[in-house]
Amino acid sequence: MCNELLCNSLFCYNSVAVHMYKCAWQDEENIMSWEENVRKVVPYTPGEQPKVKNIIKLNTNENPSPPAPAVVEALKNMDSDSFKKYPDPTCDVLVEAIADFYKVDKENVFVGVGSDDVLAMAFMTFFNSDKPVLFPDITYSFYDVWAELFRIPYKQIPLLDDFSVRIEDYFGENGGVVLANPNAPTGAQLPIDAVEEVIKRNPDVVVIVDEAYADFGGQSVLPLIDKYDNLLVVQTFSKSRSMAGMRIGYAFGCKKLIKYLLDVKFAYNSYTMNMPSLELGSLAIKDRAYFEKTVSMIVNTRERVKKELRELGFEFADSKTNFVFAKHKEKSGKEIFDYLRANNIIVRRWDAPRIKDHLRISIGTDEEMDILIAKLKEFLG
Ligand code: PMP
Repeated sequence: MCNELLCNSLFCYNSVAVHMYKCAWQDEENIMSWEENVRKVVPYTPGEQPKVKNIIKLNTNENPSPPAPAVVEALKNMDSDSFKKYPDPTCDVLVEAIADFYKVDKENVFVGVGSDDVLAMAFMTFFNSDKPVLFPDITYSFYDVWAELFRIPYKQIPLLDDFSVRIEDYFGENGGVVLANPNAPTGAQLPIDAVEEVIKRNPDVVVIVDEAYADFGGQSVLPLIDKYDNLLVVQTFSKSRSMAGMRIGYAFGCKKLIKYLLDVKFAYNSYTMNMPSLELGSLAIKDRAYFEKTVSMIVNTRERVKKELRELGFEFADSKTNFVFAKHKEKSGKEIFDYLRANNIIVRRWDAPRIKDHLRISIGTDEEMDILIAKLKEFLG
């Protein structure tokens, strides 16, 4: 009952909140009076991080390469005595390194504890209207969680059957737009001019373009921040820079937009970024050659894996990311998922309408992908 209500919760935040509230009461035996005023929310479920070794982990789109050599070296020599002090609240060393790399001013850059933190902060800052924020029905499953948490009305717009975005769906009145591009978990890329059209058609609201995976062959709308003051572009160190564990995300926008984000950040938590993240992140971004080399390794492996998956009877939207979102022509997603799991290979699957037979397979090392393909061959005959 509860899930059904949540799944059908298009555009009706208030009634969903009431239902969640009732469900929480119904589930509990001993209800405390203070619970009435608790902010209840259905949390995001992160991918599994297994504690055991000998697992091929292809479930959270991490990068199999180590971080840049300068990061590894600096970590060895890090002076823990510096941890006595608070870190720099304005994160200058990291902001300046990012601004340098992307050739923008430092006032165009915002950093946070992974792009999750940047996105959450952006939802809190820019989505403050009675009109619904628009995003696809199949996309990063944190967007609706933040909307629920911050009491932001939202509308999830169905992707077309081939998982593409129909941009006209985003032209109506709204309180903001969020597009992951390339999208996750589908991997599909919306052409850059189509994204620009969405930004152009929505001058009265902020359009967030989540580019967590754009480095793997997608195109970035970063050059458009000078043209559109309502555009926020969000990226991360977690995928293309092999630093998911350090939690570093960043965003670009016009100076006014970034200033509003900073005001909310400083109203919430002055010291979001810890000292190692600031120092190691700034070293990582300086090594362009290593970044390009490790990204192209993923792209080459991905293209090879796509071919092999197709030969095994999988279908998928063309991926420009470090994962493939694939469905088998005959076998169910659950059967394949369970078989792989039993053989120590973890991929990601959502038991959700439209995608329950899809598996999101992260691109690991060539050796890991060889084992995956061999196991799939074994299972599929
Ligand atoms: N956006 C998308 C589309 C993602 O898939 C992820 C990874 N789960 C994130 C943002 C957040 O990544 P991180 O917080 O590690 O930067």
